[in-house]
Amino acid sequence: MSNEEIVSTNFIQNIINEDLKTGKHGQRVHTRFPPEPNGYLHIGHAKSICLNFGTAKEYQGMCNLRFDDTNPSKEDVEYVDSIQEDVKWLGFSWDDRMFYASGYFDKLYECGVELIKKGKAFVCDLTADQMREYRGTLTEPGKESPYRNRSIEENLDLFTRMKNGEFADGSRVLRAKIDMASPNINLRDPIIYRILRAKHHRTGDTWCIYPMYDYAHPISDAIEGITHSICTLEFEDHRPLYDWVLEALGFEDRPQQIEFARLNLTNTVMSKRHLRALVEEGKVSGWDDPRMPTISGLRRRGYTPESILDFCERIGIAKSNSTVEVAMLEHCIREDLNAKAYRGMAVLRPLKIVIVNYPEGQTEELEAENNPNDEAAGSRKVLFSRELYIEQEDFMEDAPKKYFRLTPNQEVRLKFAYIIKCEEVIKDEAGNIVEVRCSYDPESKSGGATSGRKIKGTLHWVSAQHAVKSTVRLYDYLFINDNPEDENSYVLNPNSLETLTDCLVEPSLAEAAPGTRYQFLRQGYFVADAVEHTKEKPVFNRVVGLRDSWAKAQK
Ligand code: ATP
Ligand code: MG
Repeated sequence: MSNEEIVSTNFIQNIINEDLKTGKHGQRVHTRFPPEPNGYLHIGHAKSICLNFGTAKEYQGMCNLRFDDTNPSKEDVEYVDSIQEDVKWLGFSWDDRMFYASGYFDKLYECGVELIKKGKAFVCDLTADQMREYRGTLTEPGKESPYRNRSIEENLDLFTRMKNGEFADGSRVLRAKIDMASPNINLRDPIIYRILRAKHHRTGDTWCIYPMYDYAHPISDAIEGITHSICTLEFEDHRPLYDWVLEALGFEDRPQQIEFARLNLTNTVMSKRHLRALVEEGKVSGWDDPRMPTISGLRRRGYTPESILDFCERIGIAKSNSTVEVAMLEHCIREDLNAKAYRGMAVLRPLKIVIVNYPEGQTEELEAENNPNDEAAGSRKVLFSRELYIEQEDFMEDAPKKYFRLTPNQEVRLKFAYIIKCEEVIKDEAGNIVEVRCSYDPESKSGGATSGRKIKGTLHWVSAQHAVKSTVRLYDYLFINDNPEDENSYVLNPNSLETLTDCLVEPSLAEAAPGTRYQFLRQGYFVADAVEHTKEKPVFNRVVGLRDSWAKAQK
């Protein structure tokens, strides 16, 4: 462990620095990331992962991955697998420290017995309704259960028989004996074990009683020697119970629970309940749908781990809840890809162009730089020929004054190629434009005599003969409103996915390995879909457009 103090950038580091000074945990820093395997990880979890693994790394400490699998009814190995993949993809390692709360079921049971023996827990037969009645309210104290003063022997007998499956689900619970008059409702004799006949993804049918989170969590932390147990703010009121459990059981060097504000994003739902509903109701194609805020969705969308880490760094760690603009996340991937992604040309909604004075049957190779921000990226050849495609929106027959794209009698430059001029517009019987006939200036390509002429517009294009037909998916936010987590604002965006099937891309893009990211000139950043993209049938997802509304707003 390093003794050098790390300059604190957040309140959690302040606490750790102080603990290192006083030697509170013997100079150790040991955190954990404790997901419940009841869904895929999302960008909010990424914040927690960066905080837990990142803090441990900074202090040369350790961070465990622990599956908090104490609620068998909603948990599954599919989630266990995806969580490991996502943490690794973000670039973090738990080394050999992957644990399961279910791995402590024996120990947790023994602790229950110990609490009973110490007179600190009892078996209660109240029904759920009665228990609610007895619990009291924020302004009124609760009432003690009539079963609260059972003898230790009776409690031990009943708890054993609960474990042995002698009682029906929900008929009895084990409760901590704390204080029904406490102003903190969490301390009013909370339930610590319940009877539930559900097959557990790891322990199968071994158990028919399962520990509650508030009880299992502090014990799991203590067993693993966790020093700083970082969780989200809603657990602040649970901290006295966390401490009570550890104190009642006599653990030494007790972990300290520290709360931070969870991440909320505009136009995004983050609770697993909502995310699962989207998947189960078929509103998205799965947990990894590129519109989902899940790590797997962001990955498929084309986000890089670096951009997510950068985002988590920028949002920082605070003690009060707030909502971050999703535009800021987009800014992070834009910056990352602007530096890294190769450029390419793709025409999403093609309009045919014929260069009338270009020799029929001729093709030529033109030099195209791969990334103007990165000299090392080099260049590639793009093929030019008499028939090309440009974007439909890059041509206008009756253009307003400041339209600098293609319009009759106005010149535009084709990127990496020549200057062209519209000579004639061909329409079908219904009056739709089907082709634009142009002339080109043979001296205007790079290095040519007229290449330096000032032309306002530059268009991207593909060669008709060489381009590869592709599917391109464009995305918008899944939710229309800023705060869809609020029930009244939960409105799905009917236009969150637009699939274009007649796009044309330059051949080098079609050859991309699945998962490769590009900037399509003037169209944004795109990724060759990790699942569906093939050379013969290319499929690209738009990661993000080029316009950076977030950076603009910061100016
Ligand atoms: P949900 O309530 O939707 O099921 P959860 O918070 O219970 O989500 P867990 O799997 O228990 O999900 O979360 C694992 C860890 O990730 C916890 O420590 C939790 O505090 C943290 N976490 C979850 N959501 C967020 C978020 N939006 N921002 C920051 N941390 C989060
Ligand atoms: Mg949870």
